[in-house]
Amino acid sequence: MIRFDHVSKRYPTGQAALRDVSFSIEKNEWVFITGHSGAGKSTLIKLIACIETASSGVVSLNGHGLDRLSRTQLARHRQNMGVIFQHPTLLHDQPVFDNVALPLRVAALSRREIERSVLTALDQVGLLDRRHALPAALSGGEQQRVGIARAMVAKPALILADEPTGNLDASLSKNMLELLFTLHRSGATVLLATHDLTLIEDLPYRRLHLAVGLLEERLVLKSEHGA
Ligand code: ADP
Repeated sequence: MIRFDHVSKRYPTGQAALRDVSFSIEKNEWVFITGHSGAGKSTLIKLIACIETASSGVVSLNGHGLDRLSRTQLARHRQNMGVIFQHPTLLHDQPVFDNVALPLRVAALSRREIERSVLTALDQVGLLDRRHALPAALSGGEQQRVGIARAMVAKPALILADEPTGNLDASLSKNMLELLFTLHRSGATVLLATHDLTLIEDLPYRRLHLAVGLLEERLVLKSEHGA
């Protein structure tokens, strides 16, 4: 589904973030991207999300190079993908409900369907009673949970999560992983980048480890979780 062929990324500042990285991820796989802060995890996620472009090499999705997608294909790619960041970009002049509804409005769903899906997603992240609040009235952890609800609400085929538990306590982190497991069981491909090895130590999933932009595969185990 996702393939990196000799991908390097150097930012305009001259900083090298990824060096000659190659790997592929199958549909419905669950993969952790690990590595210290600054190792290149966010950059890898941003290349797949089309937020950044590779300096050399090819990132492809289902056989199509992401740098060659037409506008329509790019729009479809964005619709099929849920991206979770530690610090989500929320619309600060709109209440929580509308922030979460955004991907469904883009997909032109009916008002009724939107309401049902958004309320379910907010309930899942424990923020149903904050649906009328503006993001500024929420804590960092609550804003992160709004971002998680927004990324999941349209049940995307691909979830990219970059330090999704960075602002959450242990119990909320577990809850967030459970939500991702549910999506994974219903067919989603999940890439989760984290430097927090305690969060993932018992989970039998493949790990791609980045060390200063270089990739090493730490262990490859067949996913058994929840099977
Ligand atoms: P991680 O997510 O593992 O912490 P990043 O992908 O954020 O790593 O960063 C990898 C390297 O690229 C770091 O040295 C970082 O400082 C640099 N970097 C990240 N984003 C930018 C940017 N927009 N401009 C310049 N350098 C950047």
